[in-house]
Amino acid sequence: MYILVINCGSSSLKFQLIDSESEQMIAKGICERIGIEGSRLIYQRPGYDKLVTDCSMEDHKKAIQMVIDTLTGTEAGVVRSLSQIGAVGHRIVHGGEKFSSATLIDQTVMDAISLCSELAPLHNPANLTGIRACRELMPETPMVAVFDTAFHQTMPEEAFLYGIPYSFYENNKIRRYGFHGTSHAYVSERAAQVMGEDITGLKLVVCHLGNGASVTAVKFGKSVDTSMGMTPLEGLIMGTRCGDMDAAIIRFIAQKEGQTLDEIMDILNKESGVLGLSGGLSSDFRDLEAAYKEGRPEGQRALKAFAYRTAKYIGAYTAAMNGVDGICFTAGLGENSPVIREMICGYLGYLGVSLDREQNEKRGKELIVSSEDSKVKVLVIPTNEELAIARETYRLVKEACL
Ligand code: AMP
Repeated sequence: MYILVINCGSSSLKFQLIDSESEQMIAKGICERIGIEGSRLIYQRPGYDKLVTDCSMEDHKKAIQMVIDTLTGTEAGVVRSLSQIGAVGHRIVHGGEKFSSATLIDQTVMDAISLCSELAPLHNPANLTGIRACRELMPETPMVAVFDTAFHQTMPEEAFLYGIPYSFYENNKIRRYGFHGTSHAYVSERAAQVMGEDITGLKLVVCHLGNGASVTAVKFGKSVDTSMGMTPLEGLIMGTRCGDMDAAIIRFIAQKEGQTLDEIMDILNKESGVLGLSGGLSSDFRDLEAAYKEGRPEGQRALKAFAYRTAKYIGAYTAAMNGVDGICFTAGLGENSPVIREMICGYLGYLGVSLDREQNEKRGKELIVSSEDSKVKVLVIPTNEELAIARETYRLVKEACL
């Protein structure tokens, strides 16, 4: 069965068509600038040149129509008709406490996703727009919602509660939820397979280090703690997000700089992290690594602070699980930067972590990068959130047909 995976943002829509049997990507692409002048569709098939089509996409329904037309078209199509697409899997950012696993989409599920919008006001409404558009254009095709937060619903209370009045949790569900769950689940499962062990006996720390970054403690296959919180702002220092910070700083900035709450939140989300630490040099770790290697202080302090915070979380999660068998690196930076892996692992000698320098320089595939005598395995596992969504979608649709 072919599964269409949709990841809908406010002005973009990423898609992948995946064959559930071979698990191969058949085609993928992105619709950019939806609802804005200059919208275009970028479309790729393995073994072919990228196709870029400039076309007006005034809303997400038009974007999905363009995706369907392209996938079924005579020029670059990969399916004869829409009926060949057996199901659609939607990435949904926030499932609150309502969803601890993926689910088939019906009106009740859509209403529940809508209720979670106050926890993710930028993402959930966009995700819902994608679902509605698909429902209109493919009314007979089953759809599944796969939540970024679901994997972390196994966190115990002591890990997900903030140290604020309990009534805030009772009345408004203010608690830690965590994100990147699809990636953490996929990577921890792959890591167990690469280690040749059963995941139910393993303690793993997964470091998803991309523009957004989070660390998760995965004990016996379940998330027991994760660094992002009620929103993706908490935890690690990220590309442009500040991560952990004394909450009192917000009031202090407001008084000193005369900025509003919204302006300060914007700075903490979009102008902080390594971008802010590097004095505005870049949020892209490639630029920062280049600056670091040239000995420039902007690059040095940004990368050092990033690596230090990440290592601190690995230590904390080792304590939370009373040990660690494997540390996994994934996402843009985790998969591609030997320098960052080395900087982080440099703090972990006390755990008996030792890197194999030659292995650590390799890229692009699943690898064990720790040395033979390392007490804890260090792995690089390329994440594949689309495949994980396609698998969940296929599983649920198959179950529903039985
Ligand atoms: P993601 O959010 O997973 O797409 O990751 C994006 C981040 O990964 C960006 O900050 C990139 O700079 C970083 N990245 C991608 N490739 C490399 C590389 N070869 N070396 C260092 N950082 C990289």
